[in-house]
Amino acid sequence: MSSTDPIRGTDIAWNVRNNVVSATEVVERHLAEIDRREGDIHAFNLVLADRARARAAEIDEAVAVGRDPGPLAGVPVALKDNMCTRGVPTTCSSKILDGWRPPYDATIVTKLHDAGAIVIGKTNLDEFAMGSSTENSAFGPTRNPHDTSRVPGGSSGGSAAAVAAGFAALGLGSDTGGSIRQPAALCGVVGVKPTYGAVSRYGLIAFASSLDQIGPFAHDVADAALLLEVISGHDQLDSTSIRQGPLDITRQLDFGVAGLRVGRITDLPEGASPDVAARLDEAFDALRDAGAQIVEVEVPAFTYGLTAYYLIAPAEASSNLARYDGVRFGHRVEAPDTNAMYMATRTEGFGAEVKRRIMLGTYALSAGYYDAYYGRALKVRRRIASDFAAAYQEADVLLTPASPTVAFHLGDKTADPMSMYLCDTYTIPSNLTGDPGLSVPFGTGDDDLPVGIQVLAPALAESTMFRTAAELERRAPR
Ligand code: GLN
Repeated sequence: MSSTDPIRGTDIAWNVRNNVVSATEVVERHLAEIDRREGDIHAFNLVLADRARARAAEIDEAVAVGRDPGPLAGVPVALKDNMCTRGVPTTCSSKILDGWRPPYDATIVTKLHDAGAIVIGKTNLDEFAMGSSTENSAFGPTRNPHDTSRVPGGSSGGSAAAVAAGFAALGLGSDTGGSIRQPAALCGVVGVKPTYGAVSRYGLIAFASSLDQIGPFAHDVADAALLLEVISGHDQLDSTSIRQGPLDITRQLDFGVAGLRVGRITDLPEGASPDVAARLDEAFDALRDAGAQIVEVEVPAFTYGLTAYYLIAPAEASSNLARYDGVRFGHRVEAPDTNAMYMATRTEGFGAEVKRRIMLGTYALSAGYYDAYYGRALKVRRRIASDFAAAYQEADVLLTPASPTVAFHLGDKTADPMSMYLCDTYTIPSNLTGDPGLSVPFGTGDDDLPVGIQVLAPALAESTMFRTAAELERRAPR
């Protein structure tokens, strides 16, 4: 096995369930690949080799006695290190959680286990998921498997890189403003942000609770659909979880796009580089050839997404991150009194970007400015939602670039936060509306690096979104 020869989760599960290969063999092959390239890539904060081997043995035993381990039997999954794993360090790539071991599993971890999947490791991220390059990790950056002088994107860069490198067949990330779709685009894999509330957030360490969603990384659209079906569905432990069963996606994957109305946003914010813009044009052509109807739509408030996000997300973060005070979690710096201890702990425990967000958020929420900033941003959010709702009267799905550019070099954007924030221009609006979005690889751009096309759809229209992505995958330039 090599990174050019990925093994799909769907195939692994079929083979393991039918006793064609053992889960143990599958795990050993992936661990060997990790041994070979992890030193150059640093996708993981922690590789769970022993646990993975023990779990594989359990699955092989189940198969031996004729029990079906489930739809993800023996499939190695890379888990972003902001999802709680009982008794296993969960760091958010922050020093402030040093030494903390969650006393419970996230709901998605339980669901993976019940489906027969194997968590192979906890992956690197921008500290508390704040960033677009994985360079904000307290443990050093992850590198892009396609070119190790470049970033994998972020904040779920570790999971995207792990899947792209063949360290795991599937990955899970979290997406607050683009953190699954942008790294998926940069690493040449599929990445999905489901409808808000479709996947339980119980056990996902909160960044901005009204925007956060967990979603899959996979080698192809069918694998992503399978994983999303497994992790979706109502969870009474998450009060924002939608009251319905798992999403129904895989059955409709091959239905094609004949008659589907695919929207081109005429007033999309500028910023996509020429190579990416050219691929977007080809994506529309490909869907037209497949029988879709291309329609022009306007989403005037799209362009305000970034501004609203950088008030709302930091505001929620400043409140969510107040709990890391040196008392209840992880790291503590001893000091003569409690206030001094809080200050010393937070000063030492948080990195620069996290501090910037806390300060932005505290400011946006402060008494004199609340209406002017936070309140105003909420109104813009509502406006964006109504503009999208109007566009979805005309179109069933919308296409945009997932990322404005292909993978950039490490260090390129670290000195200028605004240039980093602009990476999420096209992904942020669907976090603000709660609608789903997906990035599917569609050929290459400059320097032969992967380009991702984003498919957007209205809330709970995942099956249409995936159907469109499957068509793009079939027609992707080679
Ligand atoms: N890059 C965006 C940010 O830094 C989005 C991050 C995310 O989706 N977690 O906030």
